[in-house]
Amino acid sequence: MDHFEIRNGELFCEEVPLAEIAAAVGTPAYVYSTATMLRHAEVLKSSLGGLGDPLIAYAVKANPNPAVLATLAQAGLGADVVSGGEIQRARAAGIPADRIVFSGVGKTAEEMRLALAEGVYQFNLESMAEAETLSAIATSRGLTAPVGFRVNPDVSAGTHAKITTGIAESKFGIAIGEAPAAYAHIANLPGLSAQGVAVHIGSQLTDLAPLEQAFVRVGDLLSDLRSQGLELRVADLGGGLGVPYNPDLPAPPGPQEYGEMVRRVTRDWKERLVFEPGRLIVGNAGVLLSRVVRIKPGAVHPFLIVDAAMNDLIRPALYDAWHQIDGVRPTGDRWIANVVGPVCESGDTFATARVMDRMVEGDLLVFRTAGAYAAAMSSTYNSRPLTPEVLVNGDRWCVVRPRVDVIDICPADQPPWMNVP
Ligand SMILES: *Cc1c(COP(=O)(O)O)cnc(C)c1O
Repeated sequence: MDHFEIRNGELFCEEVPLAEIAAAVGTPAYVYSTATMLRHAEVLKSSLGGLGDPLIAYAVKANPNPAVLATLAQAGLGADVVSGGEIQRARAAGIPADRIVFSGVGKTAEEMRLALAEGVYQFNLESMAEAETLSAIATSRGLTAPVGFRVNPDVSAGTHAKITTGIAESKFGIAIGEAPAAYAHIANLPGLSAQGVAVHIGSQLTDLAPLEQAFVRVGDLLSDLRSQGLELRVADLGGGLGVPYNPDLPAPPGPQEYGEMVRRVTRDWKERLVFEPGRLIVGNAGVLLSRVVRIKPGAVHPFLIVDAAMNDLIRPALYDAWHQIDGVRPTGDRWIANVVGPVCESGDTFATARVMDRMVEGDLLVFRTAGAYAAAMSSTYNSRPLTPEVLVNGDRWCVVRPRVDVIDICPADQPPWMNVP
């Protein structure tokens, strides 16, 4: 459910007409709904009822906008972070360090020092070498790092290859079969306290079966470790639950079904559970608002050239992702078109042969479900500005990231041998 609706023939975000935002801020622009984010956080919390006091650590990488983080912090969410920058953003948004889980496959020594100084809740270790580096750093500061291993359960998540993370060949985690030896090894390393285990098998999962299989394997590991005398206190079950992008496809399982499955699998577990939802919280809380620049005839279908491009929203190019495209003032007249951006890449294509609202030059449109892995992945490719982001709350709205022109982030300094006046 989201708060983007047609009223009196035009698309609103909560109480604000999108055309008003386009007129004031220009296009392209991301627009987020506070009510939608808060609703998803609440639905997830209630779906995880009966599981003790779980930590819901929002995956910051999905949408790290400071206003988004502050909104979720106020809703009581923690953070799952994968870099020093994300730790800083989460802390700046008011997320307490003891609700921050530090994931990430290549944590640098500097990032470890930052996370230790902040006092994060848990480091999810990705390798023995990482454990040794963290042990040395923690010991040198007289600190103890709370750690868990991210285990790779070798299950196929049935999602796009680029967002599958839990098969044996993937770069993430340690093989679950090697985990008992890994925990035995770190028991002898100073400066580490083995408190947990973590798993995350992929993103945009549309089937609970692989998640269940992964969690069952984690449960088996927990009992193996217990029989070795290691009683863990924390089980981090990751994120990954999919959201509906295409209304013509079956909707992925919702948070309630997910919660039921987790309750069933973890019935006998003693550990505190951690969840790391990203897309589920922010995915359909955002749209990318854009304007038609020009219409150009095509060999088969016309090209609708819009002012958003792959630098603003790379998901179609990167993951073959499908975003619903709607007119801001739909007429009911439909046609078939190819929707493309102005960037000089054939991959800068949002939709091919799409049945959609007919449009003319200057019309406004939105790409739906663009709250996650969208602005977060934007770039200035083709020297295009970074897209502004707008947060709506009821009948109020404000710009929460301004449009950033390339000229403002490119150092003007020339190399000293050039002597450009
Ligand atoms: C990306 C990521 C998540 C969030 O995934 P979603 O599919 O957005 O829920 C959670 N945990 C880890 C370790 C991640 O890398």
